[in-house]
Parts: sequence; C-alpha cells; structure tokens
Amino acid sequence: MHFQGSLMDLLWLVPVAALLAVVWWLPIPFRKRPNSETGRGTLVTDPVCGMQLEGAKAAATLEYKGNTYHFCADGCRKQFEADPAQYLSV
Ligand SMILES: [Zn+2]
Repeated sequence: MHFQGSLMDLLWLVPVAALLAVVWWLPIPFRKRPNSETGRGTLVTDPVCGMQLEGAKAAATLEYKGNTYHFCADGCRKQFEADPAQYLSV
C-alpha cells in the first residue's frame, strides 16, 4: 500500500525530530532565569488575608471601583465585600 509505505519512510524523522527538539530546548534554562514562572500568571495579593496567589488560580475575584481583587477563597471575598474600605485602607 502506498500510504503504509510513505508512513514507514517518515518513521526515521521521529528520532531526528526528538533529537533536534532536545538540542533546541536544552540551552533555554541556561539562557533564561529560572524564575520565569511570573510570566505565566502574575502574583496578586489577597487583600483580606494577605496571601500571595496566582491571579489565574484565584478562587474568587471581585470588581470594586474599577479594580479587580483576587481572593484565595470565597470566604475572603465575602469578608471583603462586607467592608471593602477596611482592607483597602491598609
Ligand atoms: Zn484569603
């Protein structure tokens, strides 16, 4: 079969591509700083308990006066909602 034949012809590309990928990616940890995690998700501070968390992983968010606040848990958001000024004045 023609299809099977061409597929077998391409098989040698797999180890070559893998080797190229390894050679290409290996030097990156040496070029970049190890703390590149911040590029993935910016760290935000939960205004209620002061915990630092990744914005994308926040359990709850709240828009208040044009700003978005992130919370580690829904309970913190409720506390903030009850009295936002208390947490913003700090
Ligand atoms: Zn919290």
